[in-house]
Amino acid sequence: MSKFSSCNFKNQKALVRVDFNVPLNDKAEITDDTRMRAAVPTINKILNDGGKVILMSHLGRPKGGRNEKYSLKPLLRHLSELLGGKTVLFADDCIGEQAFVTAGMMKPGEVLLLENLRFYKEEEEGDEGFAKKLAELADIYVNDAFGTAHRAHASTAVIAKFFPVEKRMFGLLMEGEVRSAEKVLHQSEKPFTAIIGGAKVSDKILIIDNLLEKANDIIIGGGMAYTFFKAQGGNIGKSLCEEDRLEIAADLLKRAEAKGVRIHLPSDSIIADKFDRNANVSTAPSNQIPDGWLGLDIGEHARNEFANVIGKSKTILWNGPMGVFEIEKFQLGTRAIAEAVAKATEAGAYSLVGGGDSVAAVNQFGFADKVSYVSTGGGAMLEYFEGKTLPGIAAVSAL
Ligand code: AMP
Repeated sequence: MSKFSSCNFKNQKALVRVDFNVPLNDKAEITDDTRMRAAVPTINKILNDGGKVILMSHLGRPKGGRNEKYSLKPLLRHLSELLGGKTVLFADDCIGEQAFVTAGMMKPGEVLLLENLRFYKEEEEGDEGFAKKLAELADIYVNDAFGTAHRAHASTAVIAKFFPVEKRMFGLLMEGEVRSAEKVLHQSEKPFTAIIGGAKVSDKILIIDNLLEKANDIIIGGGMAYTFFKAQGGNIGKSLCEEDRLEIAADLLKRAEAKGVRIHLPSDSIIADKFDRNANVSTAPSNQIPDGWLGLDIGEHARNEFANVIGKSKTILWNGPMGVFEIEKFQLGTRAIAEAVAKATEAGAYSLVGGGDSVAAVNQFGFADKVSYVSTGGGAMLEYFEGKTLPGIAAVSAL
């Protein structure tokens, strides 16, 4: 049993770092509550033990000062609903007297939400004094914020050392994220296929680099694929291209070949005469895109080729869309990948989907419950798969 599951929180105050950085519309309504829902099992376990839960999070980028636009207060009602109607207390300052007094008066089974941590610049600076003040609110520290685990901030990393080893731990969400990532990185059943998409090669070079050591097949789609075609001397019209990454792209292809890792680029593309939902649309081989046109999705051949590779895989990692899936005309590729990953999962493969856009895609197309794990971390997941040590994980694990 894990440290968290075997811990008895009875009468204990647990300070839980959650990632409630949810998108809000201009009426301060939550448009996607995935991150809040993901924290509920951890909160409930502590409450069911008879413990007290103090929640802390950041929201947006208030730039180190108080800004009501980024207040966590609008989340209270929904949080209460997610906890079965339980009243949630609120402290409109995450440190200071009100937080301290409210925390001191809490009864077992109660929940307190602290105001946005980033109203203090000390949070992002990783300030020790600020972390110590937060730590004084509770007996046990639980880090359940995988989405911010790649940041060395006061509440995600620095705070851990103010708790003895047996009183700092990961929550259930963090445990699940780490277990899933470890399974893919270190215990992958072969063949292992990584699907990497999205706009920019520069964002994904390090992850592809690290995956060259792990994967058998790497599928590359999305806007980033065209830099590879250009690097091979192809004509890509006005498709996305990072001129300063052409050499790196060519080098990646060479190194993959030397290592026996199969790189799959989309042989054909859906092309458009402008980046617009009303564009004229056609198809072309991805290395023969006419001047004035740009590739905005993978084509039919590529969809079939990629689905074929995915269908033979036993482990699948997917990060980044295959095209501009926000526009219906250019979502066939991303949808086909979601479908293929779901199918392979049903046939026994282990699949992990992460990164904001691929998660949005599996949700939008209704495949979220048909893959093995959907990660809540974008940047954190990328850095994990780049082989980096995440400060939020290292601090809790340190002896
Ligand atoms: P990233 O944040 O790098 O994962 O990229 C995600 C974004 O890439 C999405 O908003 C997609 O619309 C965009 N994208 C995917 N394929 C293309 C493409 N072929 N051309 C331009 N943008 C793309």
